[in-house]
Amino acid sequence: MRFLITAGPTREPIDPVRFISNHSSGQMGRALISAAIDAGHEVTAILGPVAMETPSAARRIDVETTRQMYQAVMDQFPTHDILIMAAAVADYRPKRVSTEKLGRSGDLTLELEATEDIVAAAAASKTPSQQVIGFSLESEGNLDRAKAKLQRKKLDMIVFNPLRTMNSADIQATLLYADGRQTALPNSSKQAFAQHLIQCLSR
Ligand code: C5P
Repeated sequence: MRFLITAGPTREPIDPVRFISNHSSGQMGRALISAAIDAGHEVTAILGPVAMETPSAARRIDVETTRQMYQAVMDQFPTHDILIMAAAVADYRPKRVSTEKLGRSGDLTLELEATEDIVAAAAASKTPSQQVIGFSLESEGNLDRAKAKLQRKKLDMIVFNPLRTMNSADIQATLLYADGRQTALPNSSKQAFAQHLIQCLSR
């Protein structure tokens, strides 16, 4: 099967030296890329700005902003069977990017606009044979927010994981499926979880 896997954060420039981003390390995506390669699948990895090695068998596309990740995903998805959006996409970007470094003079108010919802756009474009999987990082026990996202974004599955997963080597995930099925998995390494998820998605 052909897997399209995104990983890492995205970065939204404020001016030539500053940006808005998040703490994503890309570890989850990295584990998924390796697990899919090890299981014999073709993998295209779309990576935000993280210092990360990827298996040489994976095709790799490096991006920086959400707009670039959106374009790369929409270009690549038609030739893949599954999209796994493990990237921690920035939800907002500055409405205006200064071409010059902003000076310091008292308070500064930044106007932000919503970025493209990449996974929702991909899900809206999918054929019946394609699958789209998202991740939902929420406070402990907040499964309802993950369920709402699964429905709103029209995904085939969303992986609920508590906030402490971010930058941790472990993950305590619950798989929520579009048909209402729900599987709580034991706490495990991201590698073991990735192998399990790739196996669940393989056919
Ligand atoms: O709404 P939230 O950011 O929690 O949604 C999580 C899922 O949506 C993740 O799979 C993430 O990669 C994806 N996402 C996206 N585009 C955005 C924001 C999130 O594809 N702008």
